[in-house]
Amino acid sequence: MTHTDAVDVLNTIYGYDAFRGQQADIINSVIDGNDALVLMPTGGGKSLCYQIPSLVRSGVGVVVSPLIALMQDQVDALRALNLNAQFINSTLDAESVRSIEADLRQGTVDVLYVAPERLLMPSTLALLDELEVALFAIDEAHCVSAWGHDFRPEYMGLSVLAERYPAVPRIALTATADRRTREEIAKNLDLVHAQHFVSSFDRPNIRYLIRESQSSREELWRFIKAFHPEDSGIVYCLSRKKVDDTAAWLEKKGRVALPYHARMSARDREQNQNRFLREDNVIIVATIAFGMGIDKPDVRFVAHLNLPKSVEAYYQETGRAGRDGEPANAWMSYGLQDVITLRQMMQQSSADEQHKRVESHKLDAMLSLAEMTACRRQWILDYFDEPGSDACGNCDNCLTPPETYDATEAAQKAMSCVYRTGQRFGVNYLIDVLQGKSTDRIVQFGHDQLSTFGIGADIAPTDWRGVFRQLIAHNFLAVDLEGHGSVKLTEQARPVLRGEQSLQFRRQLATVKPKRQRSARARAPVSIAASDQPLWDALRSLRKDLADEASVPAYVVFTDATLADMVQKRPGSLEEMSMVSGVGDHKLERYGVEFLAVVEQFEAEIDGV
Ligand code: ADP
Ligand code: ZN
Repeated sequence: MTHTDAVDVLNTIYGYDAFRGQQADIINSVIDGNDALVLMPTGGGKSLCYQIPSLVRSGVGVVVSPLIALMQDQVDALRALNLNAQFINSTLDAESVRSIEADLRQGTVDVLYVAPERLLMPSTLALLDELEVALFAIDEAHCVSAWGHDFRPEYMGLSVLAERYPAVPRIALTATADRRTREEIAKNLDLVHAQHFVSSFDRPNIRYLIRESQSSREELWRFIKAFHPEDSGIVYCLSRKKVDDTAAWLEKKGRVALPYHARMSARDREQNQNRFLREDNVIIVATIAFGMGIDKPDVRFVAHLNLPKSVEAYYQETGRAGRDGEPANAWMSYGLQDVITLRQMMQQSSADEQHKRVESHKLDAMLSLAEMTACRRQWILDYFDEPGSDACGNCDNCLTPPETYDATEAAQKAMSCVYRTGQRFGVNYLIDVLQGKSTDRIVQFGHDQLSTFGIGADIAPTDWRGVFRQLIAHNFLAVDLEGHGSVKLTEQARPVLRGEQSLQFRRQLATVKPKRQRSARARAPVSIAASDQPLWDALRSLRKDLADEASVPAYVVFTDATLADMVQKRPGSLEEMSMVSGVGDHKLERYGVEFLAVVEQFEAEIDGV
């Protein structure tokens, strides 16, 4: 059964033509009063799944959301559609809370956001007892799972909703993929009869680019300059110091780049986060402390200057790009030192043995993803239990298949050198021995007398680093914690040393001729033809002015996807403007004329008037 009301709300309020993926099924089921557990990737369109049933069913839709700091933006986005959205949290004074409570009793509120600890306060529950509640939506539902990466004890209490309001449908939503977390959500939220809606985790609009590099920062700048000269993006670094340095460096290059890490004061962090959300072209440079719950739809790139610890983390962090469905880049650069550092961190971890094994397994998977030569997306989807997809055509390995070479002999040389020097030295020392450099230390240890001294003089040091990196990444060599990065052989090294196993490695980038791809895409962030660039810029600039005026983030006025559709459709009347995706009744009334004027101005210029 389809609810015509739901389609009507989608068309007139949101200005969208059609539901995406499983949205229609989920929405219809919740409107009919059923519970639902929704797993959908970031950008899949989860918000509509609870917002539309909140509007179609009578009563207020209560949304449980963990991050108080972001409630304002969620509410702003709904208000821009002329809906009555409110939040109740500790930032409000008693007066405002009373006034919202009065509205709630009057039945005029469409959607109410509340944090779990607030919802579970006796006074809030007593208030809800008096109201008609359309549904409970539990956003970021993985917070209820102890296995997940973001357990929040206050989420555990939410099972009370099932007991206290058995007639009110509950919908739990998350972008976290794995089955164990899903089962825990169902159990801990008492969602026994809920239908599970599991979408594909593919993010086809995100292009995966992973490269090995000696000078990540320079590479990063080249990437930003060529592909995202004016876009919002997130740059992830491992340490606070690197965050501060990189932000300062990007600022010097002329970009607005703001740091974000745990050592900063809560106020500074919030200020930087707000600028990132509100302004159009801010780069935030952050540790992984940043990003949870960030709904900014027009983040055009996520860059990693260090390797994340797991594929799960990588996928979650890169997933913050391109929520609006427009093209976005997930770019990463890493080197030998990253591999060594992560292997060491893993050993230093205070976790118990079993936990450590899991962590080290996850790191192995991350390193395989980084070093692989086939389609990255296919591999990632397979990793998340979605096997059988085709090569994607939208990752670096598909676009420019990497060169590989037979590294067996080089690996044998490297590993015998490790063995003959007593498995006590780091990679730089070993490379000096291979190169036949008579440094003081080498002479002092008598390593200039070894059979492996100078056997690698024909291979450049950068290439040797590539060999060692891949040997460590693929577990032929282990990094010793005590020995300050010294490496030793693992069991896996034997068959290679005995000549029973051959190795294919990625060729170092330095020795591969870079292929420059120059296209219109190189400049425009979304799919905008070069000739449409001026119109695109003008629309963005109008959007910024209107957003500043209302002090809301630019995307609350219109998303990039909507502006791109405007460029494509070039509406010549309000009627045509209403056909643009994302232009609903209220936004048409509020902004239609001004955007139309900009489009018309460019039409006139093209006609040569
Ligand atoms: P999620 O919460 O799953 O990450 P959102 O709900 O924020 O995703 O949706 C991502 C973007 O896609 C938003 O800009 C939203 O307005 C847009 N969107 C959602 N559903 C549709 C649809 N059916 N048609 C067009 N755009 C949509
Ligand atoms: Zn691919």
